[in-house]
Amino acid sequence: MAAKTPIYMDNAATTRCDPRVVEAMLPYFTEMYGNSSSRNHAFGWKAEEAVDLAREQAAALIGANAKEIIWTSGATESNNLAIKGAAHMYAKAPEGQPNRGHIITAVHEHKAVLDPCKRLQREGFDVTFLEPKADGVITAEMVKAAMRPDTILVSIMWANNEIGTINEVPEIGRLCHEREVVFHTDATQWVGKMPTDVERDHIDLLSWSGHKIYGPKGVGALFVRRRKPRVRLEAILDGGGHERGMRSGTLNVTGIVGFGKACELCKAEMDRDGERLLRLRRRLETELAKRIEVTQVNGHADRRLPHICNISFGFVEGESLLMGIKDIACSSGSACTSASLEPSYVLKSLGVGDELAHSSLRLSLGRWTTDEEVEHAVEKITKAVLHLRTMSPLYDLHKEGIDISKIQWQTH
Ligand code: PMP
Repeated sequence: MAAKTPIYMDNAATTRCDPRVVEAMLPYFTEMYGNSSSRNHAFGWKAEEAVDLAREQAAALIGANAKEIIWTSGATESNNLAIKGAAHMYAKAPEGQPNRGHIITAVHEHKAVLDPCKRLQREGFDVTFLEPKADGVITAEMVKAAMRPDTILVSIMWANNEIGTINEVPEIGRLCHEREVVFHTDATQWVGKMPTDVERDHIDLLSWSGHKIYGPKGVGALFVRRRKPRVRLEAILDGGGHERGMRSGTLNVTGIVGFGKACELCKAEMDRDGERLLRLRRRLETELAKRIEVTQVNGHADRRLPHICNISFGFVEGESLLMGIKDIACSSGSACTSASLEPSYVLKSLGVGDELAHSSLRLSLGRWTTDEEVEHAVEKITKAVLHLRTMSPLYDLHKEGIDISKIQWQTH
């Protein structure tokens, strides 16, 4: 059966909300619409009950206690609260003074980690941005080598959103606990797809988001460890003192109900989904490599999430490639800044050249991706790449056996 177009292969950007999640949310819009902080009537109690259940569901997915879950508006907010909140709480010196403390993160983290770290740098914290090797993995050895007596916080994502590579998070967690350094992980792409246990893996703070796990947008969670050690955060939002004073504001009850349901479904279906996605991704990668020469899968060959494939095609121009595969919804290796197309900073950090970065696609599969869709994507991409190469003089040279990288180009 032919795939229905357009086909969706951008699940790392966001996922379709599972209809079972929507169904769970609906009554909380029009029937049980109370404020979960209203303690003196049934509408409030019902809402609070629903929020408590969602807290249990979220905690169960990551091996935490329900009391350790703080609701937020998404992973961006969770990351900001974790990083700024911990830095301010554990600062070695007050604001305005030098040497406030040292933070370790990596250059290819999501902007929702990098930008809070850069702000802290301007406030007087010292930040080390680790650089990965070509496989994109951040190892515990790299973190260990960067540790200093004044290190107060390490923030390393569990899996990368552009290339899907998996960092050595349990090992980094153990190292941080040995050194009594707070450890935060942005697990937005990991949780719900892979088994997670914050106890076993020594995590102090963990961020994730509803819309990457087949839940609604605009709701997220932050795990904040309560014992061994008890981690404290300075709040960003001040107000009614919700969420143990860490995040004031009336709770997004419908969103939280959806988040909880999405967590429950992921926990129940993760193994089956994971196996299927890995099979589909392998099929996609092997078929593309078989039909198109000079392709390169970016990131570590095996230490990768099952559903993310980032692949570069030599001798094609990135924008033209995207035009040729318009009915496949996916992301490219170029980021649109205000006026120009910038090659992805994640790919650049692995040493991928600008040309190859521009001609990269991130194809991310999800719960509803089918074999037919994978076949369609392979056909379409192959056709587009081969067509563009018929117009590439460089590809002609390559076919003649000339090593393009050794050509001395003349500039006038
Ligand atoms: N971190 C990672 C790794 C992500 O992939 C994303 C979403 N692109 C975010 C953080 C931000 O999440 P949200 O959209 O929930 O703010």
